[in-house]
Amino acid sequence: MDEDELVVNITSNLVKKDTSINIFSRIFPKKEAHDYVAKIGKKYGFDVYSLGPIKVPPSWGGNASIYPIVLVKSKTKTKQTYERPIVLFLGHLDVVPVTEKEKKFWKQIDPFSGKIEGDRIYGRGAFDMKGGDAAFITAFSLKEIEKGTVVIAFSGDEEVGGFISMPKIISFLEEKNLMPNYVINGEPSTVPVIVTKRRASTKLRIVFPLYKKKVMGVLREEEYESFQGDGNETLHSALYVLGADSHALLTAAKMTVGWKINYLESSSKKWNSVPKSVKISYIDEFPEKEEEIERKEYYYYEGLTKVLEGLVSLPSIDWEAEKSTYGISVAPNIVILDDKNDVGEIVIDLRAMLRDGTRHKEIRRKVEEHFKQFLEDVEVKVGAAVNSMFSPPDSKVVLALKQTAEKHGVHVLRIGEKLGGASDSRYFSELGIPCAELGPSGRNAHGPLEWVSISSLRKLVKIYQDTFDLLTLSA
Ligand SMILES: [Zn+2]
Repeated sequence: MDEDELVVNITSNLVKKDTSINIFSRIFPKKEAHDYVAKIGKKYGFDVYSLGPIKVPPSWGGNASIYPIVLVKSKTKTKQTYERPIVLFLGHLDVVPVTEKEKKFWKQIDPFSGKIEGDRIYGRGAFDMKGGDAAFITAFSLKEIEKGTVVIAFSGDEEVGGFISMPKIISFLEEKNLMPNYVINGEPSTVPVIVTKRRASTKLRIVFPLYKKKVMGVLREEEYESFQGDGNETLHSALYVLGADSHALLTAAKMTVGWKINYLESSSKKWNSVPKSVKISYIDEFPEKEEEIERKEYYYYEGLTKVLEGLVSLPSIDWEAEKSTYGISVAPNIVILDDKNDVGEIVIDLRAMLRDGTRHKEIRRKVEEHFKQFLEDVEVKVGAAVNSMFSPPDSKVVLALKQTAEKHGVHVLRIGEKLGGASDSRYFSELGIPCAELGPSGRNAHGPLEWVSISSLRKLVKIYQDTFDLLTLSA
């Protein structure tokens, strides 16, 4: 099998092995994809290191394990010391599950069939990122390594943060003296972009007493919706851009300033999902006389009323973050009103370019200070905190990728920031190791009828090979 066939074959086979992961639904990947990578790795002369099974924490539920795997190839066959420079190709085997809502769009094609049609390979994970994974393996299966060492590492939990695989992969690389000089990630992109930056995400929990009180007035009910700039509904808050998109809860908060809030419901149950709609009701204490509506006594939440007031001006805090193409976005997604215990909670997904991981704590302090101006008893806690990816855009690995991409007919539109979720690259960029991301083209990562372009995968194989040579032979 030549490289052009091999990359298609491996992508399609990887798609066939369901590696869905979702902590909330207690879905974890089986070992099958790991075993397949191990088999292919051995067949093509890689040293294969299985770093699993690693048990998931009890809080994630289930009896599941994660199976990261590392493939290494060097000119010298001795495993004791690998020659430098070391180029790490970083991928992930896990995928997001196919949702019930999504299934109707897949009815022509089984999302785990790896179906090949024209220039496309269809299936969950074909684009994000089993195509890129296959390109890594293919690039160094038949190629002779002249200098340096290729390391291909696959995490098994990238879609839920990489917290299980990545520390294990890094400690393994340290032990084996394999910490890379350069990192190349094959995460997909709908347009050819070399990614060197991604915003950090801070999950902030605003906890406050509800302070239930009574007031005379008329009950008014409203429902607000979230919209993306183009009119579609906003889904993932990694894609939400403040000022360009509208957020139902921010709209609801703005429209009800000055009223007493009686009830609030956000349709979002996930901290990083923008609610499709928000229902809010409030008490109008002074209805127009002409309306002739009888005023009655109603309960309202004094605490919630104050916190919502604070929410409107929250984006105006001086966050002291680095410049980001997409600015800073504040998405208050979940609302919990625990009437019995008199506690309310609003969960915010804040995305900003934070150069230093400790800045999450600073952000927490600023947000708490802000809300205290409205309600003294507010407490702000940091939930999950994911750091930025931040790598020099003029590093050798970026320039080498750009040069080889252009050589193989891939016109790089941009070098820099990508809107969207995090990637595993940040674990290395934090350590000061230069990283660059360039993956195949395709469509619908995490969505219906996801596909990856075969011709782009074939080009990518050559791009990865030539980039490796540029980085190693010149060293
Ligand atoms: Zn991915």
